[in-house]
Amino acid sequence: MKEVYKQIQEYFSIPRKILITTHTNPDGDAIGSSLAFYKYLISKGHEVNVIVPNDYPSFLAWIPGIKDMLIYKHDEKKCHKVSLEADTVCCLDFNSLHRMEKLAEVFKNKTWKRILIDHHPIPEVEAFDIVLSQTKVSSTSELVYDLISEISGKEAITREMAECIYVGIITDTGSYSYSCNYEKTFLATAHLVALGVDGERIHRLVYDTYSESRMRLLGYSLSERLRVFPEFSTAYIFLTKEDLKKFKFQIGDTEGIVNYALSIDGVSLAVLFTEKENHIRLSLRSKGNFSVNELVRLHFEGGGHRNAAGGNSTKSMEETLKQFEAILPSYKSELASVQI
Ligand code: 5GP
Ligand code: MN
Repeated sequence: MKEVYKQIQEYFSIPRKILITTHTNPDGDAIGSSLAFYKYLISKGHEVNVIVPNDYPSFLAWIPGIKDMLIYKHDEKKCHKVSLEADTVCCLDFNSLHRMEKLAEVFKNKTWKRILIDHHPIPEVEAFDIVLSQTKVSSTSELVYDLISEISGKEAITREMAECIYVGIITDTGSYSYSCNYEKTFLATAHLVALGVDGERIHRLVYDTYSESRMRLLGYSLSERLRVFPEFSTAYIFLTKEDLKKFKFQIGDTEGIVNYALSIDGVSLAVLFTEKENHIRLSLRSKGNFSVNELVRLHFEGGGHRNAAGGNSTKSMEETLKQFEAILPSYKSELASVQI
């Protein structure tokens, strides 16, 4: 067994008071991995709470265990209380504390054992005591699957855990279309289905539950807010606060929009710029070897994976778009040579 699995197995061999947490704007993998691990730790007799920084998208509302989660934005007092009682924190699906935003405050002055379980590159290792970090894996949910299988055997995975893990894998791979060229992702999937996961139903729950206004926002984004730069193999979509208001924006409504820009033939770099309260949020996707992780680290205070990353800008929308367009020429040859 790998050393890190041994460390985790040994650490959880006595009852612990555990906090599980994840990144701001939690997505399917953040929620799926956290709740699968939550169910597992409970089954082993630990005391466990899951705290997420802010709301989750409504298409995840059916996931087993989601109503047990505490949402820091709505329940700061309770979150501080349970955090005082904890002796351990498990950070899932992110690897630098700033991605918890305000929730990072509960980390201050704590003597918790800190465990990281994550699949993003360049983990902030000094912030953790035990680090399970792997990038050649579909999702944090798959890492949780591997971890449970290693330390307790595959029999320890229940159908509920399997559903959570399945959601994490499909949402982080665009339903098995990227970050999934691994035999073991499909072997794990086969096992999840054997445990009773209804993949077709879960797909409908996650992808066929758009509100009418979300669907119209998508249509508007593509017809009115898409700009294509064929000379740079790039396309972007931008959405202003007014646009979001017009289409009754709910958390999760812009998820997936950037992928449509990337679906255009010849486009290797796609960005969605979304205007938030005090900043512009960037969501980037790329094809082939082009690293949006590197681009966004260098220019937009962010990070992520090679082909999917996020970042921020404190400039106005207009200035952010200008800045982005200004850096494109420096990537021209790299973008032109992307093999898909
Ligand atoms: P999304 O565009 O879906 O928000 O994020 C794409 C990927 O980049 C996700 O895997 C996410 O975890 C990561 N990511 C998004 N925003 C940030 C950020 O600000 N910093 C870092 N390090 N990673 C991010
Ligand atoms: Mn993930």
